[in-house]
Amino acid sequence: MKPEEIQALMDEPACAHNKKSKSGCAKPAPGATQGGCCFDGARNALLPVADVAHIVHGPIGCAGSSWDNRGTRSSGPDTYRIGMTTDLSDMDVIMGRGERRLYRAIRQAVETHKPAAVFVYNTCVPALQGDDIDAVSKAASERFGVPVVPVDCAGFYGNKNLGNRIAGDAAYKHMIGGREPEAPPTASEIPGVTRHDINLIGEWNVGGEFWNVSPLFDELGLRVLCSFSGDSRFHEIQTMHRAEASMVVCSKAMLHVARKLEADHGIPWFEGSFYGVKDTSAALRGFARLLNDSDLTMRVEALIAREEARVEAALDPPRQKLRGKRVLIFTGGYKSWSVVSAMQDLGMVVVATGTEKSTEEDKARIRELMGPDARMISDNDQTGLIGVYRECGADILIAGDRYIYPTLKSRIPFLDIDHVRRIGYAGYDGLIELARNLDHAVHSPVWNLVRSRPSWSEPRPARAVA
Ligand code: SF4
Repeated sequence: MKPEEIQALMDEPACAHNKKSKSGCAKPAPGATQGGCCFDGARNALLPVADVAHIVHGPIGCAGSSWDNRGTRSSGPDTYRIGMTTDLSDMDVIMGRGERRLYRAIRQAVETHKPAAVFVYNTCVPALQGDDIDAVSKAASERFGVPVVPVDCAGFYGNKNLGNRIAGDAAYKHMIGGREPEAPPTASEIPGVTRHDINLIGEWNVGGEFWNVSPLFDELGLRVLCSFSGDSRFHEIQTMHRAEASMVVCSKAMLHVARKLEADHGIPWFEGSFYGVKDTSAALRGFARLLNDSDLTMRVEALIAREEARVEAALDPPRQKLRGKRVLIFTGGYKSWSVVSAMQDLGMVVVATGTEKSTEEDKARIRELMGPDARMISDNDQTGLIGVYRECGADILIAGDRYIYPTLKSRIPFLDIDHVRRIGYAGYDGLIELARNLDHAVHSPVWNLVRSRPSWSEPRPARAVA
């Protein structure tokens, strides 16, 4: 990838970062790829495309360290879960055999697994060697009759965020617009209801979260042409240009996909979240507003009224136990505010929230929710985080999986909110599940046991001396 192409991706006019800095996003500093390299970000963003063979072109370590590290789920094919790599060795590098190995890997993937398409991810070693993955992908596609999409995302280009953008860019260049959507089955038509086609961008179906909200869209007559990329199929991504509205689901890194769809195809978009009652309702209202359909607006309001009443009733028992409990949230990006909103829906007090990788817009939303003096933590030091927990008198820490062990070793209740989890917390039903898990985590009897002195450590009674 040329430096000017990388710079163009870092310069996103729809992102609040650009309002602060004319040169776009800051370039990664040494050590800034701690949260994942550019390749990791690109593969995370595209791996949920379930019927595709994902080939990592590079040494086996690149594929091994990132395979299946997101709890994304598929309702059908599971080709995406098969780890595939060209496994470049030192001799391949010395002899310049990378392109040949890649071509053969594509052939093996196509012949063995019959995927809908093949995605080829470039990594540091072949990028430094100058392997032409565009040319190999084109030749293999013509030879084997299957779309082969090159994703040039070598780790040294930048951080995970840039990788997400490169993934969106590859989807826009090589997939979107590739076919027309099929006519919806007439059996699924609702009499008197106008059907609309929509996109979700940046929804990863972690723990099946998309399935918490898809029944709501079905009921409203909103056909999700593509959930990019959770539980998606290759042909669905190709039809995204025919949607009438898009929602960017908590993913700043995918803003450019929505922006380009609007610029090239006139598809309006908005940003939203499905975490918490308020945000889920706001997302449904967002679609009604963009689609400008008065009948849809009425049905959305009726659905929201029914669902909010149902959730209120279901949340009553856990909320009584959680109300007033103090929670420390340490996530990054959009979750820094969307999870705050969900906690407040449960009557909990958010004492501080992490802002690692959060934008100025994210921080503004935090202040909206928590007040102007909201405590924000940007340092991801684990010991420091435990210190803040104790200082704030919190009752539970909500964070990513890398904080599980230090937290549990410190005998602190913990809830995993990272993308590797297997439980979905989005939508109305997701909040009920979240409340149930929070209740279990805070009130688990294990805390009393591990915090009390074990019986064998009690001082022995003094022996009577004869
Ligand atoms: S930084 Fe380069 S070598 Fe390391 S995992 Fe990422 S792509 Fe592979």
